Amino acid sequence: MKFRNFPMVSRVVYGRGSFDQLGEIIAPKRQGNAPFIFFVDDVFEKRESLTKHIPLEGKDKIIFVNTTDEPKTKQVDALRDELRKEFGIVSGIIGIGGGSILDLAKAVALMMANEGSSVQYQGWDLVKVAGVYHAGIPTISGTGAEVSRTAVLTGPEKKLGLNSDYTTFDQVILDPALVKGVPKNQHFFTGMDCYIHCIESLNGTYLNAFSKSYGEKSEEMCEHVYLNKSVWDDESDEELMMASWQGGMSIAYSQVGVAHAISYGMAFVLGTHHGVGNSIVFNYLEEYYPAGVEKFHEMIRKWDIDLPKNVCANCTNEQFNTMINVSLGMAPLWENALGKNWRDIMTPEKLRKLYERM
Ligand code: NAD
Ligand code: ZN
Repeated sequence: MKFRNFPMVSRVVYGRGSFDQLGEIIAPKRQGNAPFIFFVDDVFEKRESLTKHIPLEGKDKIIFVNTTDEPKTKQVDALRDELRKEFGIVSGIIGIGGGSILDLAKAVALMMANEGSSVQYQGWDLVKVAGVYHAGIPTISGTGAEVSRTAVLTGPEKKLGLNSDYTTFDQVILDPALVKGVPKNQHFFTGMDCYIHCIESLNGTYLNAFSKSYGEKSEEMCEHVYLNKSVWDDESDEELMMASWQGGMSIAYSQVGVAHAISYGMAFVLGTHHGVGNSIVFNYLEEYYPAGVEKFHEMIRKWDIDLPKNVCANCTNEQFNTMINVSLGMAPLWENALGKNWRDIMTPEKLRKLYERM
């Protein structure tokens, strides 16, 4: 048995208002007059309360990024090419936003130092050269992208991450004040990504004490904010931010499961975003995660969430087949969820029936 030797985020700051320390944190990483590039979700373009705290110096540049679509390989390649053309080298890439921006920042930082297209690096341990310095600052909680060793990208053939020891952030700033203003449904769906990470990790065959220690705490915090509390307050933002981190740590040493495998297929064909896609799928997984799904239904009712329904209603045969192939291609997720004989349990026919319900 060979045990995996995981990289961790090298440095992390936690605290309300800690975003203000960004300038002093990155100053020692500045290389001559090579700029820092800030990828910022364009939802903040007009929100000066955030942008005025971005510590610009010299040739530093803010690039506002629209996240209507989740990050794509060609977007990463284009940004890398533009930055190389404009600046040659950069001191680092700082991502400020949700999972989409965090993954984009990680991927561009890697591609600044690696040749070719990011498509070539979608997979496990294909990146052999360290990228430039990269820091992540989440503004919505749940994905665990702030702590993971992957940057999920949609490419021409697959939605798959750049999973490597160089992907993990060098620095993360966890400032719960930044999540103020996230629309209710969106915040719920991204939060459910975290809850689903816990349920899938804790009920998987890959579970071990390392993953369990993080997964249980994260699940407890999710249930506290979504089931036990009746108002969403500062404490909720603080707890969910840490639940996201712990949930990410939990799956690092185990794996996600059925909801993620099915929602990846859906995302590839229909472009459904990660959090909402997982929620749409998880809603129907009572056979696999009975206790988790029951609590999920309770959370949906309690927070009065509009969960999209019938998203696959107009899918063609070809689309169903692509979804099924993409989903069944995620072997480790299925093996974690259902064991080594998962192919006998989750047949293409059974999966098609599940998609048809969604
Ligand atoms: P997101 O980054 O796509 O953002 C969702 C929406 O929330 C966007 O419209 C954004 O503008 C808005 N938003 C973000 N912060 C806000 C704020 N403070 N105020 C108002 N609006 C705000 O959503 P996400 O769910 O965080 O991330 C999904 C992405 O993360 C997907 O691309 C998925 O593949 C990826 N992901 C990565 C990992 C990983 O380990 N790398 C894990 C899970 C998911
Ligand atoms: Zn997820």
